[in-house]
Amino acid sequence: MRTFLTLFLQLFIFSLCYGQSPIAIVVHGGAGTISRDRMTPELEKAYRQKLEEALRKGYGILQSGGSSLDAVEATIQILEESPLFNAGRGAVFTDAGTNELDASIMDGKTLNAGAVAGVRRIKSPIQAARAVMERSPHVMLTGEGAEAFARAVGLEMVEPDYFKDEKRYQQYLRAKQKSGKQSLDYEEIEKHGTVGCVALDQAGNLAAGTSTGGMMMKRFGRVGDSPIIGAGTYADNAACGVSATGWGEYFIRLAVAHDIVALMKYKGMSVQEAAQTVIDKVDKLGGDGGVIALDRQGNIAMPFNTKGMYRGYVDTQGNIKVMIYDDEQ
Ligand code: ASP
Repeated sequence: MRTFLTLFLQLFIFSLCYGQSPIAIVVHGGAGTISRDRMTPELEKAYRQKLEEALRKGYGILQSGGSSLDAVEATIQILEESPLFNAGRGAVFTDAGTNELDASIMDGKTLNAGAVAGVRRIKSPIQAARAVMERSPHVMLTGEGAEAFARAVGLEMVEPDYFKDEKRYQQYLRAKQKSGKQSLDYEEIEKHGTVGCVALDQAGNLAAGTSTGGMMMKRFGRVGDSPIIGAGTYADNAACGVSATGWGEYFIRLAVAHDIVALMKYKGMSVQEAAQTVIDKVDKLGGDGGVIALDRQGNIAMPFNTKGMYRGYVDTQGNIKVMIYDDEQ
């Protein structure tokens, strides 16, 4: 009996010390004027399916003991490869008719981070962001320098045309004809779909990542919030992981992702309270968009001030949910 009790106690202490943290994953596919009257049933189904496929991929990695960084990268890659989203293939066009991609990733355990901006030939910008984090002494590389680095470390390179989606290109031509100038009104632009992911792994580590084509008709050379650590992406095990989507200029000015983390750390706010507070600030300043945020206990926040935001999660209970419109909870 005594040996049995000792064994039981040892097992109990072991599980306290080495117990697995709950796992969870959150994803977004962009915010904007996404309403039922603008959507066909087929398109809605396609969006929901792709978001679910991406979530399942990331969650599977977490379930099998993989790191939150691996989950974030793999989840985002699925969305980068889908022309439905404004990241990788299907990215929006600059005013010069080019696709210029931005991405970033951050590790909540070490606060290491990596980003690429204005790249045109790297097949997976999120993979390149991770390579910058892990295989260079830098945090951000841009344009040709980022591409030379990606090539040097053996990442897959493509011709710029790879990212061109014909439907998006026609939208660009229409937009160009209509205004003849760049339109940075986020609710007005036709294409949304920046993608982002935050994950919590069995070791209790958070990671966050974001990948985008930016904003339709952006001036070529423009860099948004998505590759900027602290604006579009942030992760800190002491608070939460965040990925943003929206009118990037506002998200940069408010340092949105880091502000959420700071409100949790310095003001003791919950992840929901902090994320909502910062989206309210974006709204007040005249910007729009949303964020996804996930803390170490697996609490999820996904506030936005647009009509919709492609989003979804697998929570700590293993429940999976995908949503699009503002009336879905
Ligand atoms: N935040 C992105 C940018 O400004 C765009 C988006 O999220 O739709 O580049």
